[in-house]
Amino acid sequence: MVQSSVLGFPRIGGQRELKKVTEAYWGGKVSVDDLLAKGKELRAHNWKLQKDAGVDVIPSNDFSFYDQVLDLSLLFNAIPERYTKFNLSPIDVFFAMGRGLQRKATESTAAVDVTALEMVKWFDSNYHYVRPTFSHSTDFKLNTSAGVKPVDEYLEAKALGIETRPVILGPVSYLYLGKADKDSLDLEPISLLEKVLPVYKELLAKLKEAGATEVQIDEPVLVLDLPEAVKSKFQTAYDALVGDNLPQLILTTYFGDVRPNLDAIKSLPVAGFHFDFVRVPEQADEVASILNGKQTLSVGIVDGRNIWKTDFAKATAFVNKVADKVGKDKVIVSTSSSLLHTPVDLDNEKKLDPVIKDWFSFATQKVQEVVTIAKNVSGEDVSEALAANAKSIKSRQESSITTNPKVQERLATVNEALSTRKAPFDERLPAQQAKYNLPLFPTTTIGSFPQTKDIRINRNKFVKGELTAQQYEEFINKEIETVVRFQEEIGLDVLVHGEPERNDMVQYFGEQLDGFAFTTNGWVQSYGSRYVRPPVVVGDVSRPKAMTVKESVYAQSITKKPMKGMLTGPVTCLRWSFPRDDVSQKVQALQLGLALRDEVQDLEAAGITVIQVDEPAIREGLPLRAGKERSDYLNWAAQSFRVATSGVENDTQIHSHFCYSDLDPNHIKALDADVVSIEFSKKDDPNYIQEFSNYPNHIGLGLFDIHSPRIPSKEEFVARIEEILKVYPANKFWVNPDCGLKTRGWEETRASLTNMVDAAKHFRAKN
Ligand code: GLN
Ligand code: ZN
Repeated sequence: MVQSSVLGFPRIGGQRELKKVTEAYWGGKVSVDDLLAKGKELRAHNWKLQKDAGVDVIPSNDFSFYDQVLDLSLLFNAIPERYTKFNLSPIDVFFAMGRGLQRKATESTAAVDVTALEMVKWFDSNYHYVRPTFSHSTDFKLNTSAGVKPVDEYLEAKALGIETRPVILGPVSYLYLGKADKDSLDLEPISLLEKVLPVYKELLAKLKEAGATEVQIDEPVLVLDLPEAVKSKFQTAYDALVGDNLPQLILTTYFGDVRPNLDAIKSLPVAGFHFDFVRVPEQADEVASILNGKQTLSVGIVDGRNIWKTDFAKATAFVNKVADKVGKDKVIVSTSSSLLHTPVDLDNEKKLDPVIKDWFSFATQKVQEVVTIAKNVSGEDVSEALAANAKSIKSRQESSITTNPKVQERLATVNEALSTRKAPFDERLPAQQAKYNLPLFPTTTIGSFPQTKDIRINRNKFVKGELTAQQYEEFINKEIETVVRFQEEIGLDVLVHGEPERNDMVQYFGEQLDGFAFTTNGWVQSYGSRYVRPPVVVGDVSRPKAMTVKESVYAQSITKKPMKGMLTGPVTCLRWSFPRDDVSQKVQALQLGLALRDEVQDLEAAGITVIQVDEPAIREGLPLRAGKERSDYLNWAAQSFRVATSGVENDTQIHSHFCYSDLDPNHIKALDADVVSIEFSKKDDPNYIQEFSNYPNHIGLGLFDIHSPRIPSKEEFVARIEEILKVYPANKFWVNPDCGLKTRGWEETRASLTNMVDAAKHFRAKN
């Protein structure tokens, strides 16, 4: 019998239970026991669901209250000293590392003020992990203050009668994905391998003692271009992790091509491997050839990153082909990656067009898919499921919903001229300066202001029909006015309308574009308690009518200061949706670029001549390895942005914004935006500033972390700006936060922005 396995299941709950309880805990509304109990309930639910579906290998330790990488840092005691000195409970240390903590002193406790660790995108996904942060004084050991999570959760499942396979991030990836702390910048994280291995060993021994015979050890960095010094560490690491007292290891990779690193893993003493064949089916022959005859091969064939139904016939044929090579008894049918990146359950979708719904598969359905494919490969009778699947696949292939000849005709007109501004930046700059006459150190924000409860309530009322369109518009206008008056009052230079009408920066556009479908409950974790509901690109994309002009025009009508129009760029719209898998991403991005071009031009015609087109996802989309795919991506990603933004006059100022990633200034240059703002507050590395100092156009380095409620003082801003000005020219320098403020409350927003503007004024007075 061919076995089925799942690499990880979404932890958030079908109704976002995890978010609700975590935020209630942060807000002091529920106790830590309530929080822990809810976690336990969610885990039990997920395990049972998989068990009932007939999955043979069910994961444990895929749960987390914030992030699984942060879990490991806590467990391995990789906790910078700034988090340990307050005598916080283990879970509060954990949350402080994840999101920062600022707490006033009480009679019994001292004040706490600590920023979060850096948060970065998990490979090319929209999930963010908390970057492990090491220093020379990091003292790796099993920190059991909060138990030993992988062991405790393994035993928890066992008590429910469910045998699981714990998931742990492997040592090479754990270190390589980390960074050196401010006080230890000369430290190469990978040099800590010798120190961390004994702790892995201890943890694995404890798992074995608890009864776990096999562990899924994730080494996703194997899909990156690795330096030789890192590659060679796999042998060292895994040689150290074998022993009679240790469980067998399944070395697991996903999201890409392992072939260039095969020599690093081909003689590891592990019990098996997992590879992602959804992403890179071409690697099958080569990766299968490293098996030693005893090792198993977990075949990732059900997509953990998208929502399309798996084609059973194709998947079965693929697994059979692999089985012919390595033996049926060695093959396991699996999800390509953890299902963390997919929504929980399609059955929760009550409003989707049934034709389209039939094309989709969410985590719960994917679990079933894995089981069905395994059965099919084993020769069990699943003919009914096969027939239904073949019918859905055919229905999508033949559907007229997916094609729009007009869009395809327009796409054929895209050329260099259509994607180039009328003049180069050094000619545009004086025209813009003449028009706006902004002071030195111009201040602005990234777009959104706090999305208050009131906004959400009114939006829901409108969606439910309890408010008329006119009543809702009046409400939105009132919100816009509040935001505009506030910005005027504190002296910001380039204003925004605050985006109160937007539920989400991608969904809002998707809803108004043709070619998209939406879920009502398809939430996916982005970071911590922040979840997103990605729209789905189902067909050719076009814009039936203006999407943002009304709100921007209203906002401009009530102020004399320049009002920045606010759009989400083509690449971000694509990346933060579930893309089609039947046409290339390039085609989808250019279609989006054309739709946005019309919007940019409508804004300009309506007098909105500072226009920001956000592309925070541009880095995330970068193919993980250098090579043709990557250079092609850089070309079409930049071109789709330029298609959207280059139809305007020279004195129209195009802004763009990027966040949550290590950016390469060269990639941004290719967009030719007049002003870009980037996330910067947690970048400690002076080289990173240096890299941007040659950036030709204007740039705002994000000065405070919007993920944290913490309020930086004016002095802190001044010190930070001073630091940057050592290498960065003042005349190009914009002053702004890291990102939009939608997840923040008004109180901290007001205080932080006021301090930020005051700091800008301080420098103006000096220059
Ligand atoms: N304009 C958006 C906002 O402020 C940008 C968000 C983002 O980059 N993630 O919310
Ligand atoms: Zn951002």
